Amino acid sequence: MKLTRKQIVKSLINIVGEDRVITDEEVLKESSIDRFRKYESICEVFTQPIPAAVVKVKSAEEISSILVFMNENRLNAVPRTGASATEGGLETAVENSVVIDGSDMNEIIKIDTYNMLATSQCGVPLEYLEEKLREQGYTTGHSPQSKPLAQMGGLVATRSIGQFSTLYGGIEEMLVGVEAVFPNGKITKIKNVPRRSAGPDIRHVILGNEGALCFITEVTVKIFKFMPENNLLYGYLLDNMKTGFEILREVMVEGYRPSIARLYDPEDGSYHFSHFAEGKCVLIFMAEGPKTIADATGKAIETIVGNYEECKKVETQLIKTWFDNLNWNPAKIAEERIEIKETQNLGFTTEVSATWDLIDKIYEVCIDRIRNEIPDITLIGGHSSHSYLNGTNLYFVYYYNLVDIKPEQEITKYHNPIQDIIVEETLKAGGSMCHHHGVGKHRTHFIREEYGSSYYILETLKKAFDPNGIMNTGTIIPIN
Ligand SMILES: Cc1cc2nc3c(=O)[nH]c(=O)nc-3n(C[C@H](O)[C@H](O)[C@H](O)COP(=O)(O)OP(=O)(O)OC[C@H]3O[C@@H](n4cnc5c(N)ncnc54)[C@H](O)[C@@H]3O)c2cc1C
Repeated sequence: MKLTRKQIVKSLINIVGEDRVITDEEVLKESSIDRFRKYESICEVFTQPIPAAVVKVKSAEEISSILVFMNENRLNAVPRTGASATEGGLETAVENSVVIDGSDMNEIIKIDTYNMLATSQCGVPLEYLEEKLREQGYTTGHSPQSKPLAQMGGLVATRSIGQFSTLYGGIEEMLVGVEAVFPNGKITKIKNVPRRSAGPDIRHVILGNEGALCFITEVTVKIFKFMPENNLLYGYLLDNMKTGFEILREVMVEGYRPSIARLYDPEDGSYHFSHFAEGKCVLIFMAEGPKTIADATGKAIETIVGNYEECKKVETQLIKTWFDNLNWNPAKIAEERIEIKETQNLGFTTEVSATWDLIDKIYEVCIDRIRNEIPDITLIGGHSSHSYLNGTNLYFVYYYNLVDIKPEQEITKYHNPIQDIIVEETLKAGGSMCHHHGVGKHRTHFIREEYGSSYYILETLKKAFDPNGIMNTGTIIPIN
């Protein structure tokens, strides 16, 4: 028999106590969505089933007891930490969901500067960990734009990536050990070792699971020496994205590892660099690390870019100003909401990746189709911000005016059709539909195409670890 909301709340109180089970209607409404539905939230129209409760958890054991209860009663659990998700991962898609909030599990457990490891509970904000490390001369090397908000559990759960990724890698290269709780209540811990070949790398079952397989409770990441005094910044203006992609490729293929390697198209560039870019593409590099390596990397970048006549160097100070404002300022959330209400102009992003031979074609065809097919578009541009030996990502940025719609139609008239064009064209060309925001709930209709024959592995993982489908229903794998 299905439990009522009252019974669910009562059982949760029995597990964690009354003060940690939140049932305030306003909190519940805001907890039914994430930034994918920011327009609905601004208009105070909530279309998703409102959760039964938000539970603030304090330990892996508590989470285990909650999940056992929810599994027995077939209740949907939505894990949450920093709540900065952008793709619907936090939407409570079915009735009587419970949001399990790990943000109070916010202790740094150990900073081990001999073995170069930092272990934190899932709710430690990355910015806080980073501050503590920098005080001692170390860094995680992880710097997503959401650093002021995102927490360690969510960063691992989404396979996040930071702005210095070309040197430090994504979170998957940083993660050493991890603890997680599965829906049957089993608490599992993967130990900290530099490498092992004892079977498959099971960290990857947990990494990127988006709360659809397990709840991450503890995370150990690598740390690095922090040497900002050696940073070297370079910026160039150029006419064509194609040339920019060629340069990025050359830098990567020749074996250099700048921490930043970015290429903005004129529309996106004009948003960030309006005072000097004037309709040009902008190419940015940063070399960092030990002085000898940073200097050699910087010199090589200058030599490579110098071979392209189209590129004109810009003053370093202009790029430094951009660099000093890399991270998103959460204080601006309120400002953003007022601005959207006043202007009825709204912006989102979609990020994909592909090999070097495909990336420029994907960029061209997506921009072209969006310009031609989407009404009321006011900006469509993009940039590449994470490069690899084999290819790079594209981060499309788009804004549109909301014309003649009810709040709940924003997604169907604009956001989803734009995202679908980008995903469709990327998959058709042979790229990946998600580079770093995760699948969430709004790209799941493409998941079989994304995986191809390997969908078998993904589907089997879900069936094995979450046979009752209680973990973040509708995330990564669509609701039947
Ligand atoms: C302004 C802005 C900039 C951003 N910039 C970047 C960027 O540069 N790089 C990047 O990669 N991402 C970026 N993001 C996306 C987002 O911040 C990241 O994906 C981040 O990793 C989410 O962490 P969080 O703690 O906020 O997770 P949440 O938002 O709380 O959750 C995200 C997803 O992970 C699941 N989850 C959360 N905690 C756990 C847990 N403990 N166990 C299991 N599942 C869990 C949730 O169910 C959800 O599906 C940005 C977002 C915003 C709003």
